[in-house]
Amino acid sequence: MKLANHAGRAVLVHQDGVTDVATASDGRFGPDIQSVYSHWAAFRDWAAGAPRGRAPRDPVGAGLESVEAVAPRPGQLFAVGLNYRAHALESGLDLPEVPLVFTKFASSVAAPNGVLDLPTDMVDWEVEVAVVIGRTARAVAAREAWGHVAGVTAAQDFSARDVQMRGGSAPQFSLGKSFPGFTPLGPVLVTPDEYSDPDAIGLQCRVNDVLVQAGSTADLLFPVPVLVSYLSHIVTLEPGDVILTGTPSGVGLGMRPPRFLRPGDIVTTSVQGVGQMRHVCRAAEPAFDAALVLA
Ligand code: ZN
Repeated sequence: MKLANHAGRAVLVHQDGVTDVATASDGRFGPDIQSVYSHWAAFRDWAAGAPRGRAPRDPVGAGLESVEAVAPRPGQLFAVGLNYRAHALESGLDLPEVPLVFTKFASSVAAPNGVLDLPTDMVDWEVEVAVVIGRTARAVAAREAWGHVAGVTAAQDFSARDVQMRGGSAPQFSLGKSFPGFTPLGPVLVTPDEYSDPDAIGLQCRVNDVLVQAGSTADLLFPVPVLVSYLSHIVTLEPGDVILTGTPSGVGLGMRPPRFLRPGDIVTTSVQGVGQMRHVCRAAEPAFDAALVLA
């Protein structure tokens, strides 16, 4: 099953169109997609027999500005650093012994297509596979973890490296990765059963049609079941929460010399089974300058 957020309304996505969830369920579910995750088990049962709507051929295709984030207001938004071996190596850092979890703020969540405002001249790309929680998870075992996941989507963990790395022994990951627009999610949510192996999902990032990142979640140091289990032993994961699982190698910071996003650059983000996101970069007005703000 594929679910999307079309102009603020949850829709089931079929090969030949979409079904508006609230209309087809007589208001039982939706229209707010975030509320659907709170009733996920009942929603899945209903969706299996839902009537098929008629709609445009490409209801959630790349470039459509009316498609919004599949989880627009997650209560908790986690991300994981250095979760691919080659990315840890390009970062010049040791492989982590535990998941390196940080948080992004929900105000950074954005639509899967549109403009990316660059607040500094060191904004970098990070394609990631993200999962949305569909059932409360508290101290769950890894083998049960996928049962707490509503589905998989594509994410970018856009990162202002200058802001992120400031702070010496307390680098400012949460802030450097939370400017508006820094966490696009979409264009669709895909349920895990749609994958022959949900622990081997391909992901790619292109900048101006140059392939800069290509990987598979099969190479995650801490795969989705381990991340969900680990997090759930510390915090309670609630429906609608989002976990970004980490980025493979090929970020701009790892290039020699480093290469960051410039106005006019086009970032295309792809996750197997999910499809593509597309963002056009422009200079933010005003730019962020810590020295000016603090003066
Ligand atoms: Zn990341």
